[in-house]
Amino acid sequence: MTDGEFDVLILGAGSGGYACALRAAQLGLSVGLVEKGNLGGTCLHIGCIPTKALLHAAEIADQTRESAQFGVTATLDGIDMVGVNSYKDKVVARLFKGLTGLIQGRGITVIEGEGRMTGLRQLTVGDTTYAGRHLVLASGSYSRSLPGLDIDGERVLTSEHALRLDRVPSSVVVLGGGVIGCEFASVWASFGAEVTIVEALPRLLPVEDEASSKALERAFRKRRIQIRTGTPFQSVKVADEGVAVTVEGGDVIEAELLLVAVGRGPTSDGLGYDEQGVAMERGFVLADERCRTNLENVYAVGDIVPGLQLAHRGFQQGIFVAEDIAGLEPSPIDEAGIPRVTYSHPEVASVGLDEAAARAAYSDDAVETVTYDLGGNGKSQILMTQGFVKLVRRKDGPVIGVHLVGDRVGELIGEAQLIYNWEAYAEDVAPLVHAHPTQTEALGEAHLALAGKPLHAHA
Ligand code: FAD
Repeated sequence: MTDGEFDVLILGAGSGGYACALRAAQLGLSVGLVEKGNLGGTCLHIGCIPTKALLHAAEIADQTRESAQFGVTATLDGIDMVGVNSYKDKVVARLFKGLTGLIQGRGITVIEGEGRMTGLRQLTVGDTTYAGRHLVLASGSYSRSLPGLDIDGERVLTSEHALRLDRVPSSVVVLGGGVIGCEFASVWASFGAEVTIVEALPRLLPVEDEASSKALERAFRKRRIQIRTGTPFQSVKVADEGVAVTVEGGDVIEAELLLVAVGRGPTSDGLGYDEQGVAMERGFVLADERCRTNLENVYAVGDIVPGLQLAHRGFQQGIFVAEDIAGLEPSPIDEAGIPRVTYSHPEVASVGLDEAAARAAYSDDAVETVTYDLGGNGKSQILMTQGFVKLVRRKDGPVIGVHLVGDRVGELIGEAQLIYNWEAYAEDVAPLVHAHPTQTEALGEAHLALAGKPLHAHA
């Protein structure tokens, strides 16, 4: 049977799906939101929020350990993972309650259960089929593994298992030096574990500017995190007491646990997308810049669509689709203008093109860069953090990339993304007044340098 028809029917209540639902309801559209798990999806329950809570606890551990450099006498007596998890879970629970209230308050119909696409704009959940004038696919992603690598949740973990650990492991091999791998490596090193990162590609955070990767690697090595880049994984032997990871070249690394952080695949298997004729590639749903699939009035948002797998991309796409359906003709989202942050110690953040991509896009002569060292920034010195602001611009043109390394620089990405998205020139930003002493001044200083009038930097 078909149970009514919604203006917008959404499969998946993660960042992409719920943002679409909230905005569509706000615009007066009727919304059906199908979810088999918890409203909020990966980001709220097993992604962004709980990992950042762990990273905050890790920062407190580091600051306690390093307190003497600030003249404060404190000793780190240990990490109580039950306490850390309870803090993390409370943060998630508060946000979950708030989100649930919002969804109810906007009159969105939540349909609990596992949905499947059974018609052009139809979803079946259990025995009931729901129809939408528009269908939005937002089923998200799952942690990938590698061939021959069995994830048992005991010795070999995904990030989801890692978030539930009730102890600090003595040692961990982190397979994958991307964002998730680097964040967990950072947390565990702060909590006192011996950490080795194994990454097949030549550098950590391979999608970031090379200078940022190098700075993070230097900082991690100083923190005694072992880094094996350019080192493909070969196999793992699991025993009662731990794992023995063999990498290309034959070296064996022993540890208590192996975290598999080799990327996230699309959740699309068995969901009927293929059968209904949705154009797909390697399990991802193909969508154009207006988030439209090849089928009329069928959209896709979030991690299921190839591109950056970030919550705020999902939010923005969800809002975009709701406004598109409501006929507001929103502007498409520029992927390069989506800010990216790795919340490790130190943090790495960026928006726009990195230097290599800019040189490839415009030619060597047409691109220039400037790097401002946080050594000249008062607030960074107060915090005792090192790093830089690197700007990439087209010669005599706008800033096309901003790259940041240092503790807390993730908070600067808001201004950086405004600069990039407004296609600002260095000369536009240089005269803006930044409060002193803040790390935002470093952005101002970098633009002063690019405009040819450096203040706290050598000419
Ligand atoms: P999801 O959030 O995965 O939501 C999809 C939803 O669909 C899920 O709730 C799922 O239960 C539901 N679903 C799937 N299939 C069905 C079905 N058949 N029937 C019913 N429901 C279904 N991003 C950031 O921007 N910042 C961060 O700091 C960050 N940290 C992260 C840390 C980790 C450890 C991980 C794993 C991810 C992190 N991310 C981060 C990425 C972010 O979580 C994702 O980009 C975001 O959640 C994607 O949203 P989505 O709506 O596409 O998918």
